Amino acid sequence: MIEFKKEVETSQFYNPSEDEFKDTSVEIRYDPLTGRTSRILEKPLPMEKGADMDKMEKGFCPFCPENIETVGARDCKVLEGEMMKEGEASLLSNISPYAEYSLVIPLTKTHYLRLDEFKKEHFLNAFKLVQRYLKKLTEIESDVFPIIIMNYLKPAGSTVTHPHIQVMVTGTPFENQDQILSSEERFYDENETSYWKELVKEEKNGERFISESDGFTWKTPFAPLGLEHVRGVCLEDFTDLENDYLEGMAQGIVNVLKGYYEMGKNSYNISVLMSPLGENRNRTVVDIVARSNFDKYYWCDVFSLEKLLGEKSSNKTPENIAEFMRGHF
Ligand SMILES: [Zn+2]
Repeated sequence: MIEFKKEVETSQFYNPSEDEFKDTSVEIRYDPLTGRTSRILEKPLPMEKGADMDKMEKGFCPFCPENIETVGARDCKVLEGEMMKEGEASLLSNISPYAEYSLVIPLTKTHYLRLDEFKKEHFLNAFKLVQRYLKKLTEIESDVFPIIIMNYLKPAGSTVTHPHIQVMVTGTPFENQDQILSSEERFYDENETSYWKELVKEEKNGERFISESDGFTWKTPFAPLGLEHVRGVCLEDFTDLENDYLEGMAQGIVNVLKGYYEMGKNSYNISVLMSPLGENRNRTVVDIVARSNFDKYYWCDVFSLEKLLGEKSSNKTPENIAEFMRGHF
């Protein structure tokens, strides 16, 4: 029912310094849901250890506790100017909105965290705020597409160091979101079952399986979207998740970040795919990828292949990443 399809191309060159011919293989893997391709070429990357953040100049930060009350933008359409709070997390309006409803939630009072310093509560509190906001939004909107994203540090595209997630709710789904929505509909029509349900069943205890707890199955995707891609799948919708499942989601993210820290990473992206508002597709999908390390002269992991050709790549196999991550769950 689910096909894990890949092709292998072998390149050959002559190495004059060693007087030998060398073969190198690249795997071209097809995402079992969308058919999108991703290339895996096992090789070391030119990645430095990362910047010493203690020596970085901080500058003005709108999310630090001394500024947030005075400069934090308030949502007016849904919350009528209220700033919702939960633990250290505060829900603000995003002043750079990419969608009609665009929010930003600083997770911590602390301006910078190493990846091993993120705690379950940081994400849990923020996810509770998102649930509360979406519940209110449901009273005035339907046929809109919510998504959560996180960019941590500049290589991940963030302009603000302070840890924060973003929530966007748009009438026009983002391209990958749209592709997943239509692909899972097609899968359902052809197989009369949910892709995600079958995926969890198929991958359980396999070579890409990491762990299963509190409603979430953690695994690496067959065709990764980037470096060290880990995915959490829950067969319930985000807006319906009870506290124990939200905790499972937050803990899984923290476990992955601890793994990244041990790999020497400092920057990452997250997205949380959820159902269109008012519709229940019985799944929440969390995607986490590591990015190039933030450093003074950092190498960028998004080159022409992805930027202009839309092709994803990874320098490790998902099977190897899963094996490493199992030690962190
Ligand atoms: Zn700050």
